[in-house]
Amino acid sequence: MVIDCHGHYTSEPAALLEYRKQQVAALNDPSKAPGPLRISDDEIREKLEPAQLKFQRERGTDIAIFSPRASAMGHHVGNAATSVAWSQICNDMIHRVCNLYPKNFIGVCQLPQSPGVPPSNCIPELARCVNELGFVGCNLNPDPSGGYWKEPPLTDRWWYPLYEKMVELDVPAMVHVTATCNPAFHTTGSHYLNADTTAFMQFLTSDLFKDFPTLKFVIPHGGGAVPFHWGRYRGMAQDMKRPPLKELLLNNVYFDTCVYHQPGIDLLAKVIPADNILFASEMVGAVKGVDPETGHYFDDTKRYVDGVSWLSAEDKRKIFEGNALKVYPRLSKQISRQAAAARA
Ligand SMILES: [Zn+2]
Repeated sequence: MVIDCHGHYTSEPAALLEYRKQQVAALNDPSKAPGPLRISDDEIREKLEPAQLKFQRERGTDIAIFSPRASAMGHHVGNAATSVAWSQICNDMIHRVCNLYPKNFIGVCQLPQSPGVPPSNCIPELARCVNELGFVGCNLNPDPSGGYWKEPPLTDRWWYPLYEKMVELDVPAMVHVTATCNPAFHTTGSHYLNADTTAFMQFLTSDLFKDFPTLKFVIPHGGGAVPFHWGRYRGMAQDMKRPPLKELLLNNVYFDTCVYHQPGIDLLAKVIPADNILFASEMVGAVKGVDPETGHYFDDTKRYVDGVSWLSAEDKRKIFEGNALKVYPRLSKQISRQAAAARA
């Protein structure tokens, strides 16, 4: 089985985007508030079939761990109530996708974060998504201010109530920012990768995983700059009299394979233990085109993992399947549950 642990619902029906537009417009003019969202199952199918589903079939991947479009989470827009309403709508859409295609998608939720609002505010939506919708994880934004980094680091006690709930529910978080409103950054080109790198350094300098030994994070996009600079991080940990990285972080921190060229995946697989790498492509997402040097889609990351000749079959099995089942403890049961629903 090939599990893609990082997919977003980027083929949403236009009505969902229109709903969001009206929700944002209503912040200044309540008369513009959207009515109930009306999207048929056929509209969902029409957009998904030629996008995520087509690529799954063509590339030979089986299941995507699927969450709302990350750049549209927009935690910095409006207030906490705006974020709760929008998160519920987006998570419900993911739930519908999982019901329509139970063998192809497993849900992960967007959290209703809002700048300055304690993360404990996200607990009811997280619990709803896991307990009622069968979701297996969440996306956690370390910077709800959208590029201005106003929140305490992820290792601060500010976040602990949410972590306690994650541990109780046995769900990991993917560290994932949303769009930037700071013009210095490009959302997918720099803000995402900065956040991945920043989160790792926060983890390195803290004792978070002493307090939460079973808490798990996936750092996406190959871990930002981290694998490339692994020597720097090992050296800094040593200078700071921290334990070796393996001991300090690698029971809790994992990296995905959303790196869009062979040399990048080669480096990731060489530097990061196979036990800590999860297959992912983030399709259809940040890079949509075909690489003229290879003739294949940049985000067809399965080809690159297949192409690492010195990885053993056992290591590849971990990367494609085993590690995801370990990091998302609810995943195995949810796959069985949805497969049974598909047969019924
Ligand atoms: Zn993403």
